[in-house]
Amino acid sequence: MSGSTTPITVARGDGVGPEIMEACLRILEAGGARLAPEFIELGEAVWRQGHSSGMTPEGWESLRRTGVFYKAPVATPQGGGVKSINVTVRKSLGLFANVRPCTAYAPFVPTRHPGMDLVIIRENEEDLYAGIEHRQTQDVVQCLKLVTRPGCERIARYGFEFARSQGRKRVTCMTKDNIMKLTDGLFRQVFEEVGQDYPDIAQDHMIIDIGAARIADSPEAFDVILAPNLYGDIISDIAAQVAGSIGLAPSANIGARCAMFEAVHGSAPDIAGQDIANPSGLLLAGLMMLNHVGQGEVAARIHNAWLRTLEDGVATADIAGDRPAVGGEAFASEVISRIGASPRRLAPVGARRPPPVPISNRPPAGRAEKTTIGVDLFVEWAGDVDTLAARLQTLEQGPLELRLITNRGVKVWPEGLRETDCVDHWRCRFMNGGSSIPLKDIAALTVRAAEAGLAFIKTENLCAFDGEPGFSLGQGQ
Ligand code: NAD
Repeated sequence: MSGSTTPITVARGDGVGPEIMEACLRILEAGGARLAPEFIELGEAVWRQGHSSGMTPEGWESLRRTGVFYKAPVATPQGGGVKSINVTVRKSLGLFANVRPCTAYAPFVPTRHPGMDLVIIRENEEDLYAGIEHRQTQDVVQCLKLVTRPGCERIARYGFEFARSQGRKRVTCMTKDNIMKLTDGLFRQVFEEVGQDYPDIAQDHMIIDIGAARIADSPEAFDVILAPNLYGDIISDIAAQVAGSIGLAPSANIGARCAMFEAVHGSAPDIAGQDIANPSGLLLAGLMMLNHVGQGEVAARIHNAWLRTLEDGVATADIAGDRPAVGGEAFASEVISRIGASPRRLAPVGARRPPPVPISNRPPAGRAEKTTIGVDLFVEWAGDVDTLAARLQTLEQGPLELRLITNRGVKVWPEGLRETDCVDHWRCRFMNGGSSIPLKDIAALTVRAAEAGLAFIKTENLCAFDGEPGFSLGQGQ
């Protein structure tokens, strides 16, 4: 063996975790990986000790030291007070990119899409997963969808760098910017801006609904797909399933200082301890880890041995179909016995350079001139809209006028439709006659609302940026 040894943090996880991790470490070592694992406790046992994050302080310390986390699946206990360890690790360590390759291994793993070989790159920290939710009225709850320019820039650049470093030809961005013009619109806009720095990569955009349908129907048409957090989460499971088996799918979570590698599947309690589980998803994640730490040649050697094992008809129960199945341990030994061999029908894998974690080389966008020109006052109100409007008009002062009331985004005043079904949550828009409004006037409006007995929930300032409205206009306007 040559080269230096890389310290990594390893968690054996729950359910099938310990058995598949054992098998994978055995294969990685036999393949010549230069790794020094530090084992940490994670999951159910740690929650029971009272660490609500599911990780001990020593675990966090090891992760910060090694910056590389090889993680077996962890069971997330149901019920309050327990957070998903995956979400906690991703957010705490700034793992902004989730990378999920979905490849078909036909005819050795049955699939209807033999040519499929795509990678989904999902933004991992923002969007509806910020977890900022509120119950605002008797009948209405909300979840904040946060999308940031730096977050979009980083994931878009990572997507293009990934494509370039892996010899891939096209990046397809998927959003719903026809409906969410500001949030998804920003994701798409930044994708197109960053894409100008990568003229060698073909690039396009699809609305997520037709994109998801196409992934299910003709996944072989895609190369790299870039998506915001929620859509990326959903389409990566569709793609893994369509490729043949969720048991084969790996995932990498990449950040500037730390990265986590795991299988896509969970702890599979139904088959735990029976030597049935397929270690392949976790193994392929381990190979992504080797690429990440600069041991791409070792990764390729093991990958080729694994492909040859599939070709030779060695299969765990989840992919065996009508063939006899081997256990996870035996599967690992079969892979080890083929190290040095290459596949004959499947395309062999070469050493892969890890994509650099992008450091923006663009100057930050110039600061736009921001002017506050109005305010949306959100009110809980169980009565009819005309009475509400009359009461709100008593709050007007100077040029500040009530212009619009919407309910669930639909205009209901002035000139709403009787047919619109309303709930107890009203967005009441006050504008300042086209000129800017001092923040103290907004505060004063809320004071007048409170004095008038109107149960306002929150205000949202309406701002223009370089004269462009930075807010949605509301349907029916
Ligand atoms: P699961 O992925 O554990 O199991 C779904 C089905 O796939 C089961 O029938 C299982 O037997 C099978 N399966 C999964 N992995 C397999 C493998 N390697 N080989 C053969 N068959 C395999 O999903 P679940 O049952 O919904 O979740 C179980 C637990 O895992 C839950 O507590 C969940 O929160 C957790 N989970 C953890 C992660 C993670 O740590 N990354 C991901 C998903 C779910």
